[in-house]
Amino acid sequence: MNFNKFALLTRAEIWQRYHSGEKPKGGSWDTGYVLEGHDLVAFLNIGAAGRTGHDFDNAYDSEAETVTWFGKPSTHSKQPIFKGLLEGTITPHFFARWDSKNTKFTYLGAGRVLDYQDGVPIDTERTAIRMRLSVSDGAIGEEGTPAGSAQPRFAKKLTMLVNRYERDPAKRLACLAHHGYACQICGFSFEAVYGELGRDFIHVHHIEPLAEVGGEHDIDPIKDLIPVCANCHSMLHRANPALKPEALHSILFEGEGAGRK
Ligand SMILES: [Zn+2]
Ligand SMILES: [Zn+2]
Repeated sequence: MNFNKFALLTRAEIWQRYHSGEKPKGGSWDTGYVLEGHDLVAFLNIGAAGRTGHDFDNAYDSEAETVTWFGKPSTHSKQPIFKGLLEGTITPHFFARWDSKNTKFTYLGAGRVLDYQDGVPIDTERTAIRMRLSVSDGAIGEEGTPAGSAQPRFAKKLTMLVNRYERDPAKRLACLAHHGYACQICGFSFEAVYGELGRDFIHVHHIEPLAEVGGEHDIDPIKDLIPVCANCHSMLHRANPALKPEALHSILFEGEGAGRK
């Protein structure tokens, strides 16, 4: 099954990609992971205890694009699911959330096992298998496009100007989880215009210029980052330092550009 990277989906929406009708309540689809043919659909609570109260040290490293993932209690590498993952006959799809009350999970990607360990203690009595997997599909490139894909020449200059914080996937995810995928300046939605192709595509702009922020950890993904369409993003960066979003909004809707829209 193919999912768009960083798509926000509920369990029921993911279920519907594999089945038709209504997702039944309870059962394996409401647990940490479920096998669907050759796919393993894994739900990760990161830094948050799940419904069952377990707080495995699942982790997502946005720089390296790796997932650290624990099996259920008493799992180990000789069991069919884990053998399948290690042999590559089962493809794991990772869906993560950072707040266990959030019903939407962020799709991190399909995993490729890097290494694993059996017998990792998960509480005072039990152990489980722990796997480290790469969820990189050739690394996330500029603004979420695959790094290997050809970049239009005009974008090169913009790339140099944009703050590197705009490309931090974890911050980006948190920003989009809050604001959604429509341009916060002009309202443009790539999905509304381009359909499936444009789903979950948007640029993320860092409002304050690089020099004015202390570092990555000071970034508030909701206040400091803003989803913007490619046009608005380019217009913001026509000024150096970049225009404030409100300034561009007034140019677009009240100012000199207003008559032409
Ligand atoms: Zn826009
Ligand atoms: Zn920007």
